Amino acid sequence: MKHRTFGSTGKQVSVIGQGTWDMEQDDRRAAVAALRRGLDAGMSHIDTAEMYGDGRVEEMVGEAIESRRGEVFLVSKVLPENASRRGTVQACERSLRRLRTDHLDGYLLHWPSRHPLQDTIAAFEELREAGKIRAWGLSNFDEEELADAIRIAGEGKIACNQVLYHLKERAIEHAIIPFCDEHGISVVAYSPFARGDFPSARSPKGRLLAEIAKAHGATPRQIALAFLLRYPSLFAIPKAARAEHATDNAAAAEIELSEDELRRIDEAFPRGRQRRGVPTL
Ligand code: NAP
Repeated sequence: MKHRTFGSTGKQVSVIGQGTWDMEQDDRRAAVAALRRGLDAGMSHIDTAEMYGDGRVEEMVGEAIESRRGEVFLVSKVLPENASRRGTVQACERSLRRLRTDHLDGYLLHWPSRHPLQDTIAAFEELREAGKIRAWGLSNFDEEELADAIRIAGEGKIACNQVLYHLKERAIEHAIIPFCDEHGISVVAYSPFARGDFPSARSPKGRLLAEIAKAHGATPRQIALAFLLRYPSLFAIPKAARAEHATDNAAAAEIELSEDELRRIDEAFPRGRQRRGVPTL
């Protein structure tokens, strides 16, 4: 597994991590085993949220990481509706109980909230000083919203911005990635396989991915991850509730695409025009 420095934390974190959205709908034993298999393969970054299954997914993650907490870079998220000064602290404490741990490595605001951002940030700083979180970050923030957060918190405080990024949705390449690079904020790509909308093997685009994959002894999904990870500030968190999928995803970290392969993927999945705001599902 390849590692990179995760934003302002200074910590080395696996470039490929593990998502957990909707995992409460998967077979629990299989999903817990998949997360453990992912840890075995070096995908130490586990991403969850209080929203996922109304807390049930955090409980599953708690089970998966029991006795392995030291290996994990554990990230959870506060729901915007809970992100008041007191609400954020209380939400974090509930997440810690469900995850059966005394601290998070990262705690994110899930998307911009109606609560004043300075209150959420004050709560994050309080949690950090109390040792309940090691670092904090944001999710679904565009470059203007990130600039507001920096005005409030100062430079070097925001560890990451977790945003939608996959082959068919490359909008963050225009302004969000450059802004994050300039300010030392890591970019975490969510839904890197577009959830259920990964290019079909029968389509011309799917066939291109398959052809490149064959040359690397890899799978099309591994090629997709390798393409996203060509940015040095990037991390990806595919979700896998099957152990064989976790193994497959972890192996993508070793793939280096040639300039020609990068160009062909870029042409097949064009970046598109710049749009206002942050891309959403
Ligand atoms: P995703 O990772 O793009 O896709 C997940 C789907 O891909 C699942 O159906 C999974 O199947 C399948 N899959 C995974 N690895 C595979 C492989 N090697 N071969 C074949 N199929 C494979 O979708 P996502 O869950 O939306 O995104 C990933 C994570 O990002 C989430 O779980 C969550 O942690 C985070 N996220 C954050 C936000 C936010 O607002 N911050 C929003 C969306 C997602 P199985 O599960 O059956 O293995």
